[in-house]
Amino acid sequence: HGGTVKTWKHAPGDFRALLETSRLHGDKIFLSYEEEHLTYEEHFRRVATLARRLVEEYGIVKGDRVAVAMRNYPEWVIAFSATLAAGAIAVPLNAWWTTQELEYGLSDSGAKVLIADGERAAKLPGLTQSLIVTRGEVPEGARSFEDVLGAVEADVTLPAVELSPDDPATIFYTSGTTGRPKGALGSHRNLGQSPMTVAYSLMRAVLLAGRDPAETTGQRRVTLLTVPLFHVTGCFSVMTTTMFTGGTVVLMYKWDAGRALELIEREKITGMTGVPTNVWQLLSHPDLTKFDVSSLVGLGYGGAPAPPKLLERITTQLPNRAPSNGYGMTETTALAIGNSGADYLAKPDSIGLPVAVVEVKIADPTGDEVPVGEIGELCMRGPNVILGYWNRPDATAETFVNGWLHTGDLARVDDEGFVFIVDRAKDMVIRGGENVYCAEVEAALFEHPAVDDVAVIGIPHDELGEEVGAVVRLTSPVSPEELQAFLRERIAAFKIPVRFWVREGELPRNPGGKILKTLLRKEVLGS
Ligand code: ATP
Ligand code: MG
Repeated sequence: HGGTVKTWKHAPGDFRALLETSRLHGDKIFLSYEEEHLTYEEHFRRVATLARRLVEEYGIVKGDRVAVAMRNYPEWVIAFSATLAAGAIAVPLNAWWTTQELEYGLSDSGAKVLIADGERAAKLPGLTQSLIVTRGEVPEGARSFEDVLGAVEADVTLPAVELSPDDPATIFYTSGTTGRPKGALGSHRNLGQSPMTVAYSLMRAVLLAGRDPAETTGQRRVTLLTVPLFHVTGCFSVMTTTMFTGGTVVLMYKWDAGRALELIEREKITGMTGVPTNVWQLLSHPDLTKFDVSSLVGLGYGGAPAPPKLLERITTQLPNRAPSNGYGMTETTALAIGNSGADYLAKPDSIGLPVAVVEVKIADPTGDEVPVGEIGELCMRGPNVILGYWNRPDATAETFVNGWLHTGDLARVDDEGFVFIVDRAKDMVIRGGENVYCAEVEAALFEHPAVDDVAVIGIPHDELGEEVGAVVRLTSPVSPEELQAFLRERIAAFKIPVRFWVREGELPRNPGGKILKTLLRKEVLGS
């Protein structure tokens, strides 16, 4: 090591190639959490050591599953990387899950080993898997992370396992917006293309904003991770991409806009990637102007609909930045379509153009392409599309048809190829046979200055089947009549909510930033 060129033992398309490349970043800080810092070299050694222990002490062989259940700690990244380096499949579990949900993830994936933080371990008393615990109490029969790691040698090498690009690498659970989370089985190829794709898009965003790429790329790139590592945005758009470009990921135990402002100033954050809510809350924070946020150039968000007003707020409150909206799914290994710079300013309601490796098709229910401008189901194809769903042949057959991933999102493209998400196929109110896209009504309501957050839902109606309702969070009092009058200038009468509920607290969201409408519907309608 030490700057000399090595002969690659592993080819790109195998996670270990990324890991060995990242080692060349040497003493630069890779992970930063509170007062802790881990360099690329330190990270590599820990990963290689843990991978060896998994193979030698836990009997992990190629294709076995190792689950990871933690908050955004540096150990999450080590455990994830070590699992892949051992040839096993990493199963990141949602740290917000209850005991029952965690047990579902463990049994569904058939994990042999669980690497968890103390909080998660405490939720799983009847565990049958081998348990390795980091940060917290180690229950009887389990071992601590430090104990398993033992002495970390400087000359440690990765265990020898034959891997090919189509071997499975990860099982990420979808967010469960439309039903029970499905295990998305991703390959080494999926994972390997992701940092290239994201880095390419980041570069485009910065160039399109007329900024110097050196400000946000290379060694000076410091990214604030505002979302969980157990979803693809955190893991791929931030963590593995940074691993590739040699920047630093600043980890947060949990998202908090005030804390984020402190970190941006203290750590000289150059880029922030998360969900639209993160940026929205940052801009709404009363102390925004009290902090020095001049280092912040890149503002990436996606994973959930971004209100068009968000871009307007960014350009007025944080001018001269490089904002970008990314569309992605668990099934597309994060980023698949993106909009940034002048493109984004010209078409703020578009999710942009497919990223380098992705092909897009807007299809009718039979799978045939619809004419330009017409609404259909967004379908995608490319090396980023996962292998299928774990243990779910039925769902796999339904979603992956003739090589195309059917997203379940309704969209249209314009004559320049820009994609516009109309709504989720399942998030539509059908009012007297007329389709009302919740996303459109939400975007219109967001334009009202007093509206801070909104969710549009269907209300059962005897005659019409469904009526339109809206749950709003307000910054100042407004009457339903005023909101309706405001909407009348923007959208057709049949789309205007007939009923409004004002909510004091935050709307219920999953860690992916998506509003939990089933829960909300239950709260306001009781069903
Ligand atoms: P499940 O599939 O379990 O119901 P989910 O679809 O919410 O959950 P994810 O894979 O986390 O799980 O989310 C992908 C979905 O998020 C997309 O299908 C799309 O509806 C939405 N989405 C992602 N990015 C954007 C974006 N930039 N704009 C609008 N919607 C987005
Ligand atoms: Mg989905």
